[in-house]
Amino acid sequence: MKDAIESTGVPHTEVDLILVDGVSVGFEHLLTGGERVAVYPMFEALDISPLVRLRPRALRDPRFVADVHLGKLARHLRMAGFDTLWANDWDDDLIVRESLAGRRTILTRDKGMLRRREVERGYFVRATEGEAQLAEVVRALQLESLVAPFTRCRECNAPLEPVGKAEVLERLPEKVRGCYDTFRRCPGCGRVYWEGTHFERMRGIFDRLGT
Ligand SMILES: [Zn+2]
Repeated sequence: MKDAIESTGVPHTEVDLILVDGVSVGFEHLLTGGERVAVYPMFEALDISPLVRLRPRALRDPRFVADVHLGKLARHLRMAGFDTLWANDWDDDLIVRESLAGRRTILTRDKGMLRRREVERGYFVRATEGEAQLAEVVRALQLESLVAPFTRCRECNAPLEPVGKAEVLERLPEKVRGCYDTFRRCPGCGRVYWEGTHFERMRGIFDRLGT
């Protein structure tokens, strides 16, 4: 079944349900010829648990590892609050290992990586521009209700911690001191965040998405 699906160009990681002559089957099902096969992508709004599950449920605790070409998308996802690993020197083997170890969905523009047998979770990103990629991933994986801007460091992926204005006052640009009162700090790199330009830009993206 798995080989038949992938021979059509669909990565098996995007398949959540297979029906053969109306009966749900697993990837290991053998085709004999003449059957009617229906293949469905991941369901998020429909409970298909009475049917055969192809993999452990993971999407509702979405974590990602992005390939080397998706640095902008990785930063956008972090700004939207999603745990996203990315490094500019990670090869495919390392990305697959991180995916398996952390139950992370691989985000890639390389279909070959998603066809690897050991890969369990993956999404092929169609868009080529960072903000469009973010919009695509949020829509495709139905992440709208999980977006939490201003909660994660865009540079090192660490969850941000609340910090008092007095503690960070000296590090703030002059115009920020008077305009904002709520700040968060990254325990990893020390960067201070406030609901300023990045936040407004993210808000704009999600307004356009209709979330
Ligand atoms: Zn940081």
